[in-house]
Amino acid sequence: MSATGDVVTGEERLLVDGELRPARSSRTFETINPATEEVLGVVADGGADDLDEAIAAARRAFDHTDWSTNVERRVACLRQLQLALVAHGDELRAMTVAETGSPLSLTYSAQLDTPVESLGWVADLAEGYQWESDLGKASPLGIPSHRWVRREATGVVGAITPWNVPHQINLAKLGPALAAGNTVVLKPAPDTPWCATVLGRVIAEETDIPPGVVNIVPSSDHAIGALLAGDPRVDHVSFTGSTATGKRVMVSAADTLKKVFLELGGKSAFVILDDADLRGACATAAFTVCTHAGQGCAITTRLIVPRRQLDEAVESTARVLGKLPAGDPTDPGTICGPLISARQRDRVEGYIRLAGEEGGTIVTGGGRPDGLERGFFVEPTLIVGVANNARVAQEEIFGPVLVVIPHDGDDDAVALANDSLYGLSGSVWSADRDRAIGVANRIRTGTVGINGGLWFSPDMPFGGYKQSGVGRESGVAGFEEYLETKSIAEPA
Ligand code: NAD
Repeated sequence: MSATGDVVTGEERLLVDGELRPARSSRTFETINPATEEVLGVVADGGADDLDEAIAAARRAFDHTDWSTNVERRVACLRQLQLALVAHGDELRAMTVAETGSPLSLTYSAQLDTPVESLGWVADLAEGYQWESDLGKASPLGIPSHRWVRREATGVVGAITPWNVPHQINLAKLGPALAAGNTVVLKPAPDTPWCATVLGRVIAEETDIPPGVVNIVPSSDHAIGALLAGDPRVDHVSFTGSTATGKRVMVSAADTLKKVFLELGGKSAFVILDDADLRGACATAAFTVCTHAGQGCAITTRLIVPRRQLDEAVESTARVLGKLPAGDPTDPGTICGPLISARQRDRVEGYIRLAGEEGGTIVTGGGRPDGLERGFFVEPTLIVGVANNARVAQEEIFGPVLVVIPHDGDDDAVALANDSLYGLSGSVWSADRDRAIGVANRIRTGTVGINGGLWFSPDMPFGGYKQSGVGRESGVAGFEEYLETKSIAEPA
């Protein structure tokens, strides 16, 4: 049961070659409700033998069935999956809140409904996609030739995902990978295995997706991810997670030179220019950092404000943060739920202590909320007085923690925003649209919102510059990540 008494049903079994089954070792591990610290249930603890069977099944399905060439079949299966997930909406919503600690309100967008909708978007894209382009005749080296370019699936995709928005990331990989004709082995994060295994059950029981096309292997052991990234039978590894792990994935994949797609961490800037609606902008910055307790890679966590408006910005932001207390994620009004685990809470609290050591002041928050004896909660926290090169201003905290940095004009604001090894997202606020666009264009990140505009949707590419990633998820660019390009010529 969830905290509100909704029935929470998960799925213990992994999915290999169309079969829902326990791990070969029969081992299981627990999945925990981060808001209550209760054990929700258990899940199969996939081992190297399960992974080996999953990769072999994905290889067979790619090499020996028509999955990669039958686009009508794939489109029909993706639409079937979308409808089946919609039909399970209530059950999935309760389970997602219980397992991730995400506020219920977010399941109506990024945590559930938007990713499910995205399956329809990518099915439409595959249906209308130009798989071949005729380049006409030419005479390279004097040989008259008729040429065309063909797009084909990459092969077996190893998908490795984190815990913060599991449906979003699992489906942002599965949808385009399947639409493009690949087969997949999905290794979800150990903190949110049910979000993946329930998907496996729906695929196995309620769709015509053939055996082996999707395999789902949860594991308590991160080494299973490394094995997947390194396996020579896998053609493409699609990873979302921390930058540190992304580098390890790249190393694991290097020996077999497989295609590597990485969506990694961020420390995005929320830039307020001196003509902006300061209060409105600060309120949005406060709200944003509380969303899912700051556990979003693209959440803006550095608030870059005009120096002469610093005090007003801090006061305004702190006031709004104070009105967004961490609380029960099943309450429809909650914005800031718990962190995913005790380990993650320790990490966030460690950064809050570090802020003091780096000369910063905690303006609001910094502790655990009163009255919540259980659950991995921390208060929304505002830090001022640190330089942009302080660790708390440079490293990804992944909690509801906002660091305020003053700027001395637009050029300085751009320089501060770009003074980061990350390049994932950002936000610019100004009363002058051209000025805001000018600054947005100079910020070296994969996404930027202007005056509250939101780029998050299935048709918009999302990804990072610099150490925030390699490649793009979503949109046409995200779909084409899962394709190879073949050039063919015949005598003309
Ligand atoms: P993580 O890097 O610890 O783990 C991510 C996944 O990688 C998990 O499934 C884990 O089991 C697996 N893994 C761990 N070690 C591995 C290895 N050596 N080889 C292969 N796989 C391995 O990340 P997390 O803590 O689960 O998630 C939080 C991080 O994810 C944050 O840094 C956040 O910014 C990032 N993230 C990025 C995006 C994005 O799109 N850019 C989206 C969400 C989360």
